[in-house]
Amino acid sequence: MKIEILTTGDELMSGLTRDGNFQWAGEILTALGFDVAYHTTVGDDMIRLKSVFKNAKNRADAVIVTGGLGPTPDDLTIEVAAEFLNVGLELNQPALDMMTERFRKIGRTVSETNMKQVYLPKGSTTLLNKWGTAPGFSCEVENTVFFFLPGVPKEFRAMMDEYVLPELEKRNPQMKKSYMRLVKTFGLPESEVAQKLEGIEREGIRLGYRAHFREIHLRVSSFADTENEAQSLMSEFLNEVDSRLGRYVFTTEGEMLEEVVGALLKQHEMTLATAESCTGGLLSHRMTNVPGSSSCFLEGVVSYSNEAKSKILGVPMALIDSYGAVSAQVVEAMAKGVKELAGSDIGIGISGIAGPGGGTPEKPVGTVYIGLYSETKGAVSHKFHFHGTREEIKLVTVLNALDLIRQSLLNNV
Ligand code: ATP
Ligand code: MG
Repeated sequence: MKIEILTTGDELMSGLTRDGNFQWAGEILTALGFDVAYHTTVGDDMIRLKSVFKNAKNRADAVIVTGGLGPTPDDLTIEVAAEFLNVGLELNQPALDMMTERFRKIGRTVSETNMKQVYLPKGSTTLLNKWGTAPGFSCEVENTVFFFLPGVPKEFRAMMDEYVLPELEKRNPQMKKSYMRLVKTFGLPESEVAQKLEGIEREGIRLGYRAHFREIHLRVSSFADTENEAQSLMSEFLNEVDSRLGRYVFTTEGEMLEEVVGALLKQHEMTLATAESCTGGLLSHRMTNVPGSSSCFLEGVVSYSNEAKSKILGVPMALIDSYGAVSAQVVEAMAKGVKELAGSDIGIGISGIAGPGGGTPEKPVGTVYIGLYSETKGAVSHKFHFHGTREEIKLVTVLNALDLIRQSLLNNV
């Protein structure tokens, strides 16, 4: 079965919006073993849209269209689809009911412009949208199935999962059963990950690498005749990955590093407080992005100046004077200070030179110290030399701080 992914919108053609829907769908479909044969992007133009629909019909067995289902005049997909199918539009009552209810909840009524979204091509199958306003639809043209989905990424993904993937699987009964995981590593460059995994390939496993800012992500899929077999193939493979990469793997379920850290803190019933200088609160921002973080994250201090480090965290001025604000001694004192201030189990202290100015021969731009203090283990700190822009240095510092907390909770440091 040849699949074509057709993404639409002027914002994609002008480069204003990254084609994230394609990226996501291409990865998922390929990992599931489908043949993504074509990818077309086209702007909001009736004639061009119609011509790419026609091309897709002639060369693909399934076409996934995203975008242009909205209420604005540049949303042309429904109209063009109806012309392409040679049918009229008709009111879809379930979709209208759903939209009315959705609007009622936020104190709105369905306007005339929104009504446009619930008139769908006659004879098509409605794909109700539980995640947004624009309903999608599917139809069959000369043995090619078309799915029309909204452009909003969250809605697109949810509707792919809910309608498209099950339908594609149903249409391919001969396809192997598959199982998919997203493994993420931190702390090793891609080349080393690849080296450690050398020769790990095996029958029934598909492996894709992607570098994601200092993290390496491995998309793993397993294929077998039954779901059970695919699942056990996967767990055997993940065991092997674990024995080769060990502490560098922070999830096999696609979670973010801070989610893993939050979960570990909760599991150990421990709490965290942070004192940040060069990262300006980015670590506490990342920690508080995790829902439910209030049970493990107590306090975040941005102690940027020397005075703040001394006044808020009780870091002795003499320590700063003799070792400098960017030093092992100072981050350890910051970590201890914020731990005591917050009454948490763990304290983190971060200080560094994010640049572009402020570097010295002994402490060039990118020099960062991260300290961790806990009652049981006392103080530990690490010195780093990062490269990149100011923002990149902040980001990589935060990832290393998160990983330090993780390793400490796992008793690796
Ligand atoms: P809506 O009901 O919101 O109007 P729609 O189906 O009309 O949905 P669009 O108007 O085309 O979709 O796009 C909605 C939003 O989704 C826009 O912010 C757009 O930039 C984004 N978007 C559209 N297509 C893609 C894509 N391929 N990848 C990532 N984002 C996209
Ligand atoms: Mg729109």
